[in-house]
Amino acid sequence: MPELPEVETVRKSLAPFVESQTIEDVKIYLPRMIRTHDAAAFRRRLSGQTIHTLSRRGKHLIWHLDEDVLISHLRMEGKFYIVEEDVPQMSHEHVRILFTSGRQLIYHDVRTFGTFDLFAKPQDILTLKPLANLGLEPWDEGFDGTYLKRQFDRRHGPIKPVLLDQTIILGLGNIYADEVLFCAGIHPKRAASNISLKRLESLATCIHDILSKAILMGGTTIRTYENSLGIDGMFQNELYVHTLENEPCRICDTPIKRIKLSGRSTYYCPTCQH
Ligand SMILES: [Zn+2]
Repeated sequence: MPELPEVETVRKSLAPFVESQTIEDVKIYLPRMIRTHDAAAFRRRLSGQTIHTLSRRGKHLIWHLDEDVLISHLRMEGKFYIVEEDVPQMSHEHVRILFTSGRQLIYHDVRTFGTFDLFAKPQDILTLKPLANLGLEPWDEGFDGTYLKRQFDRRHGPIKPVLLDQTIILGLGNIYADEVLFCAGIHPKRAASNISLKRLESLATCIHDILSKAILMGGTTIRTYENSLGIDGMFQNELYVHTLENEPCRICDTPIKRIKLSGRSTYYCPTCQH
């Protein structure tokens, strides 16, 4: 599943191909992916609009058009492809946007969980339903140990699942949650409410630095997820614990452990994290 750094890599790789492109037509093969409109209305509204910028909030891609804002989410396995000439429908292709330039944007999704929501442009895009009630990204003003302390105060369960709660920290998924806990020396089962402010300040720094580094390296390429436009991320070489069960810890040589927490595989070093 793509996490924030992978989605940011998708955004950066797609932006030069879609920004300033005018939409001529839209083909919709799986109408249920469009949650706000029926297929005919979606096609009618998009046709003729120009994509001005492609931005991102959390794992949502935000397409800023003349009149509207399109918000898309890749979910488990969504991918975008760019083609420069008309090609037959690909298998697992569900939406295609045709530009007046002849370029085409193809949305491919084996699991079909991806979504598209179209809204009239509001004053503040953060008021739109998919983006409202999301927590802070590590680059937002106010994201620090004090913010985490306030948010974790009533969370008496293990910290790992709390880190995945997008209403608190926007953009941490399973891979990076394991890595930031290792970085801050926190055991994944530790009660979130029971961690000192000093340790949470270090956690906030770890979250900021690890996600920033992962973005610079194009994200992490493991298992089934590969990027749009065939770009592979390199952050998998930087992992300290995630997917490394029984490998020696890079700091202390203790074998990395794997446990299940809230149904998700969780990796940690029993010596470095307490
Ligand atoms: Zn260790």
